[in-house]
Amino acid sequence: MKEFLENFSKMIDYGFLGVYRRQKMSEENVETRFVPALAKACGIGALLNLKYELFKDGKRILPETEFQIFKMFELPLEAIIDDLPEKYRDAVVESTSYYDVEALLEGTGNGKVIITEEGYIMLAESKLHASKDEMDQISEYNGQLIYEELCKGDYVKNRHFLEREENVYIPENAITQSEEQAKLIKAYPELFRMCYVKNTRTSLYRCKRCGMVLRENRIGVFSCVSKKCNAQLDKKIEIEMHGLGWVMSDIVARNIYYPGRLEQEIKEILEAGKEIGTVEQYTLWPGKYEGIYDTWDFKVQMNNGRTLLVDAKDVEHPHWIINDTREYLEGAEFIYIVPDDKTKIYLNQINDHASCAGKVQCLRVKELKKLIGVK
Ligand SMILES: [Zn+2]
Repeated sequence: MKEFLENFSKMIDYGFLGVYRRQKMSEENVETRFVPALAKACGIGALLNLKYELFKDGKRILPETEFQIFKMFELPLEAIIDDLPEKYRDAVVESTSYYDVEALLEGTGNGKVIITEEGYIMLAESKLHASKDEMDQISEYNGQLIYEELCKGDYVKNRHFLEREENVYIPENAITQSEEQAKLIKAYPELFRMCYVKNTRTSLYRCKRCGMVLRENRIGVFSCVSKKCNAQLDKKIEIEMHGLGWVMSDIVARNIYYPGRLEQEIKEILEAGKEIGTVEQYTLWPGKYEGIYDTWDFKVQMNNGRTLLVDAKDVEHPHWIINDTREYLEGAEFIYIVPDDKTKIYLNQINDHASCAGKVQCLRVKELKKLIGVK
């Protein structure tokens, strides 16, 4: 049942994220384009219909086309939930909040629809809110689910676990797991399941540049999760497998592992700043324990009275930094730190952008060093 519920939720959430994107495109008169979240929602609907035999009066219950998804959202969700066979209906009513959701779309008569107030309330929910305007809605949505799961347990300890190179691959055989790996699997089975995918290959290689397990989509053709690495893949390192195991998912790699490496660099600079006295003190992930998911990575108290809120960002497009939304704190300066290999053009695109200029700054690691006064 758990698997059904999880997929059902994703179908609804992806579907609505996709509808939102489709609506936005039509408002902005963008040519009709493929919306991955909508396609994915249709795929999940079709899969569930087949797997759980969800038929009523000879028709498939869940939506399988974009048109059917739009139609579903024009009614309160209880309509589709009530159509489900009893045990699935009861499970959805009991374990999710979808049954009370009113119509998210409203027809305007000329074949067009608008998003209702209820629809906007749904979009304000944290996992949808964080992903609705991102380029890759699905990856952001799943990253957010992982954050929420992390926040249920020992956030700091588990996040550090996912930032470490030795944990990009975990063998299945308990004897060859490290003590920490065995503990995480036992104490946080849900988190583990969300962050790792089962490996079916008999040999695996690690990227020499970033430490991540290399993907091998065709025999002998390797690629790294980070595109930057792909020019240097000839120096790959074979992983000692000890039988079957699990590989860290791309979503965790992008959302936690890579930012973690940059965070480590920043931490070292702040430590050096403390030693020479330019930094009075700093805290990691301020606000995490008050339940703020999307907080800054560091709050830095400088010796000269300045307060900096710093966030590590290793993303391909400046767009992701420009559109990043985070809690602001009165009297503090906001700084995004990006790796040294980002170009001046990349920085300028952010620093000159109307929504950033005068509010937030983007610096490379080397410029942060200068700011803190360390070499
Ligand atoms: Zn790599």
